[in-house]
Amino acid sequence: MDADVIVVGAGLAGLQAARSLQREGLAVTVLEAGDAVGGRVRTDVIDGFRCDHGFQLLNPAYPAVRRWIDTAALGLQRFGTGVVVRDGENTTTLAHPMRHPQHALETLRSPHLPLGDLAALTRWLGPTLLRATTASRAAQDETLTASFDRAGLTGRLRRDVLDTFLAGVLADSSGGASANYVKLLMRSFALATPGLPREGMQALPEQLAAALRSPVRLADPVRQVRESADGVEVTTDSGWLRARAAIVAVGPQDLALVDKPTPTTHGLTTWWWRTSEVPTDSSFLMLDASRRGGGPAGPIWHTAVISNAAPSYAPAGQHLIEATTLLDRPDGQADEAAVRADLARLYRTSTRSWDVVAHHVVPHTLPELPPPLVARRPQRIGERLFVAGDHRDTGSIQGALVSGNRAAVALAGVLGGPRRPSR
Ligand SMILES: Cc1cc2nc3c(=O)[nH]c(=O)nc-3n(C[C@H](O)[C@H](O)[C@H](O)COP(=O)(O)OP(=O)(O)OC[C@H]3O[C@@H](n4cnc5c(N)ncnc54)[C@H](O)[C@@H]3O)c2cc1C
Repeated sequence: MDADVIVVGAGLAGLQAARSLQREGLAVTVLEAGDAVGGRVRTDVIDGFRCDHGFQLLNPAYPAVRRWIDTAALGLQRFGTGVVVRDGENTTTLAHPMRHPQHALETLRSPHLPLGDLAALTRWLGPTLLRATTASRAAQDETLTASFDRAGLTGRLRRDVLDTFLAGVLADSSGGASANYVKLLMRSFALATPGLPREGMQALPEQLAAALRSPVRLADPVRQVRESADGVEVTTDSGWLRARAAIVAVGPQDLALVDKPTPTTHGLTTWWWRTSEVPTDSSFLMLDASRRGGGPAGPIWHTAVISNAAPSYAPAGQHLIEATTLLDRPDGQADEAAVRADLARLYRTSTRSWDVVAHHVVPHTLPELPPPLVARRPQRIGERLFVAGDHRDTGSIQGALVSGNRAAVALAGVLGGPRRPSR
């Protein structure tokens, strides 16, 4: 045998699975198709700018992050707790009044926060804020749209802020996601302010990989995984390996590797722009509510001056700006000229001198999460074969870490604990 367990895929799920198996005293080999660890959590460093593969944030409130990640070592740079809403000629900052008291009055007086909507939001989210299990174990679930409607959350807070913000987070503008999942998501936003690691989001998987005794085998795509009489055989481009068991921790779009159906996914694109003149000193995400009836008037669903919140993302004297478009929208594939024009409208400044540093198109950003929320999907697919990944839990950093750990614990149980000293 080449290892006790082979883990296919060095995304967050695979890395967390490998760490847990190692803790059980098992020898683990991780095989990764890409040229670095991280999967969907990668960072390109281009001319001193850190461009994550699609804008994303690490929320330190996720239970799995609190449990398994040393967030202090990552040096999280926090965003403001709130958003800036662009509405035609006007912008309003809606911010957590305790964390940003300088914006309290503006927030409370904002037309985007009608009292009726605030009361409805409190009714809708309040029980989950008090106890996560209210949503995670709820017998009833429905789509986000139906749930907002039923709660009477139908005014400008919904149209101008929530629908746009959540579409950006879920890469899904249909409103068809599980309302119970969104409640859990909103709870995690209420509990802590997300941020970006000093070295970029890829520092997260790198921290997990650094704890492994055997380095991840990179650029070694697995072509076949097969159960044999006494274990599994894994064929890669460089040969084949045998092990007592395997965990296949590939993304949702690659599940054909183990003959499993590929779940529907949602996608987005992130444009990374550089400029030497910062258009705002705000460290909040900007949402657009300029379309008649609410929502974005252009292709951009959110934008932020990343380097205001995370100075390490740009070299001194330079600024990095993200702009995200959604692939389920007709203008999701808007070209550079259209995105540049939309940025000029949103920041009310000329963007002619801005340059694109990178443009990431991520068609499989997140697996679809329709109601009812099933946070623990089956992971065992053979005697000694398991799958892991955010598609087995929830489409998030939390979901990927939990699913990796869950597969590892179950597999260790099947193998009967450590059979030999860990390597
Ligand atoms: C743009 C974007 C924004 C996001 N924003 C957030 C956010 O703000 N907050 C949040 O919590 N989550 C966010 N997410 C989701 C989160 O990043 C993912 O849920 C999580 O990273 C998924 O991890 P995973 O290990 O399940 O899968 P993946 O990261 O997809 O890892 C699978 C790995 O398997 C490898 N692989 C595939 N096939 C093979 C093969 N045949 N052989 C070997 N290796 C193979 C792949 O190369 C990859 O490294 C975002 C994701 C994206 C893309």
